[in-house]
Amino acid sequence: MEHRKILILGAGYAGMAAAVQLQKHHVPFTLINKHNYHYFKTLLHEAAGGRRSLQTYAIALDDILTKDTSHAVKDAVKSIDIAGKQVDTEHGTYTYDTLIIALGSQTAYFHVPGLKENSFVLNSLENAKQIRTHIEETFLSYKTTPNPEALRVVIGGAGLTGVELIGELADYLPHFLASHDIPADDFELMLVHSRSEILPGVDERLRHLAADKLQERGVRLVLNERIVSAGPQEIVLQSGATLRAQTLIWTGGVEANPVLTQAGFTVDNRGRAKVNEFLQSVDDPDVYIVGDNSLFTESSGESLPPTGQVAEQMGHHLSNNLLRQLRNEEPEPFVFHNRGMVASLGPKYGVAEVGHHTAKGLTALILKNGTKAKYLMHLGGPHVLFEKHQQWIEI
Ligand SMILES: Cc1cc2nc3c(=O)[nH]c(=O)nc-3n(C[C@H](O)[C@H](O)[C@H](O)COP(=O)(O)OP(=O)(O)OC[C@H]3O[C@@H](n4cnc5c(N)ncnc54)[C@H](O)[C@@H]3O)c2cc1C
Repeated sequence: MEHRKILILGAGYAGMAAAVQLQKHHVPFTLINKHNYHYFKTLLHEAAGGRRSLQTYAIALDDILTKDTSHAVKDAVKSIDIAGKQVDTEHGTYTYDTLIIALGSQTAYFHVPGLKENSFVLNSLENAKQIRTHIEETFLSYKTTPNPEALRVVIGGAGLTGVELIGELADYLPHFLASHDIPADDFELMLVHSRSEILPGVDERLRHLAADKLQERGVRLVLNERIVSAGPQEIVLQSGATLRAQTLIWTGGVEANPVLTQAGFTVDNRGRAKVNEFLQSVDDPDVYIVGDNSLFTESSGESLPPTGQVAEQMGHHLSNNLLRQLRNEEPEPFVFHNRGMVASLGPKYGVAEVGHHTAKGLTALILKNGTKAKYLMHLGGPHVLFEKHQQWIEI
């Protein structure tokens, strides 16, 4: 069967999984991505918290997509014309026979006034760099102007992103203060969450353990409180209380890339486009939608959450179905296999849930590091794992 023209949008976990699998079988494709690198979004909290250099969290696309059949383009997608089978980007127009949309998500602000304008988010390496630079500069300003609000950091949203980020900051910032001779009396980390417990969806024992560990390290949990508005250096809570801080970070929710809604796909209230059991758009079988962009409903009636492991499995599965199509075989329905989750609470402690088993402390972190090594091996083999995991990429 002749090769169809395959266009992949986005080099995140879903797009890369599809690309790597197609490359392995010498199937030609073009991949369009905003950056010339793939970054490890699930580790962004480490980058923001100064654990390692930013470059450790990205890998150049050219180091992974090395075959003649793989074509990576640095460009930004602007719109998709479903009927015309073409994609407009900042620098041109691309046509396709088969389209794979894997553009990931952006922060959702739920129409809270002032939140977007007055908070940092953690979606990209640029964001991680902004958070780190801002906190360091603000903390240093305390030396000349000792305003307690300079040493106060408030994070809104205690899902995986907010919890992992505050865990990282609880470890890093005391060291930063000490190494710059800044008195820590006014230092305060706060995690605001609308529910009664942090880490929704995670095993109850682990939720409690994570909350205890954060509190032991001085994090103040502000629970059962919704942020109703934000202004410069302050947020107002549902109870009427106001929290003032020079650093506000919002990690309370995500929604799919708006390009999908604008293109006219059938979407849910988070902008995720509805797909069938083969991950094809319900609006056009030539379009596959994967990862955070995809609204996939399991046989239980529940839709899959936007996570890295869902994205990776979807990308891998759809490319296998494209290979089956080339062999004139029937496609196979997608089934998600939950491999568990690991939440790090800084570089020395974590909690993990794998099947019916739970782990805590260093064991959980070893699991997380093992996952990263396995992922790098899968992306590009030992060459990527040992030689390319830390390189110079402009961020
Ligand atoms: C701090 C943090 C911690 C997390 N921890 C975990 C975890 O422990 N486990 C877990 O399973 N999940 C975790 N997640 C969620 C996980 O990272 C996402 O669900 C996952 O990255 C989604 O993969 P994706 O391929 O759909 O999108 P992404 O990985 O977001 O990839 C989208 C790609 O598209 C590119 N792009 C976007 N817009 C355009 C455009 N207009 N034109 C061109 N390119 C574009 C982006 O640059 C990016 O390369 C975490 C997320 C964060 C932020």
